[in-house]
Amino acid sequence: MYETVKGLVIREVVFGETDKLIDLLTDTGVRTVRVRGARKPGSKYAAVTQIFSYGEFCLRQSGERLYLDSAVSLSAFYGIRNRLEALALASYFSELVRRTATDQPQPQILRLFLICLHYLSEHTREDLQIKAVFEMRLVTELGMMPDLVCCPVCLRYLPPKPILRLDRADMVCEDCYPGPGWNDLAVTAATLQAVRHAIYSDLERVLAFRVRGDSLWLFAQYAEAYVLRRTEHAYPTLQFYRSITGLDSEN
Ligand SMILES: [Zn+2]
Repeated sequence: MYETVKGLVIREVVFGETDKLIDLLTDTGVRTVRVRGARKPGSKYAAVTQIFSYGEFCLRQSGERLYLDSAVSLSAFYGIRNRLEALALASYFSELVRRTATDQPQPQILRLFLICLHYLSEHTREDLQIKAVFEMRLVTELGMMPDLVCCPVCLRYLPPKPILRLDRADMVCEDCYPGPGWNDLAVTAATLQAVRHAIYSDLERVLAFRVRGDSLWLFAQYAEAYVLRRTEHAYPTLQFYRSITGLDSEN
C-alpha cells in the first residue's frame, strides 16, 4: 500500500548496517519511516531524508512498518546548517513537537515549524524572537495558551506596566496587582504585544513583527518559562542551546 505525504524530517537515527529511521512531521502527525540504504555512499535519498529537510515522500506500508519508496525535496533550509545556534534551536523545536505530539491532525504545527525554519535559515529575525514565538504559538495550537486579552480587574487592554502571571496564565496591570507571586513577571507593553502577536495573529504572519532589547529578553524569558511549565518536561536540546549561546552564564 502506497501513500504520498508532505513532511518535515524532525529526527533521524541510525538503523542496521546502512539504513536509518526518520520521524516525519506531517499534517496528520509524526510518522516513523525506515529508509533503506540511506547511509550507503551515493544514496540518492541521503539529502532529502536528512534532518530539517522538507519534502514530498512516497511511503510504502509493509506489516507494521513504513518504508520510504521515493522522495522529492521541497526545501532544504540550507541557512540552518551553517549556523550551530540555528541548528540547536531547530533541534529544540523538534524535541518540543515530539514530546507534545498527539494522534490528532495538527497541520498548524507543521506550518509553524516550517515558518520558523524559514526565518532561522534566512536569519532575518533574532533567534530569541523566533524561539519565543515558536514556544508561545506551539502551546497555543495545543490549546494551552494564556488569556491576555485585558487586565481581568479593570479591563484595560494595554496598561503601561503589565504583569504576566505564569500560574494563572493571564495578565494583570500594576494597579490591580494583588501582590508578589512566585512566577509573576513584570514586563513592558511591547513585550505584552509581542506575546499577543505570537498567540493571536494569523499563523502566516506569526513572525511578521519585530521586538528588541529588554522587551525581547522579557518575551523570551516568559515564553520559555511558560512552555516548561505547561508541558512539564525538561529538554536536553534546550540546555544545549542555552550552553552554546551563553544564556546559562547570564542568569
Ligand atoms: Zn487593571
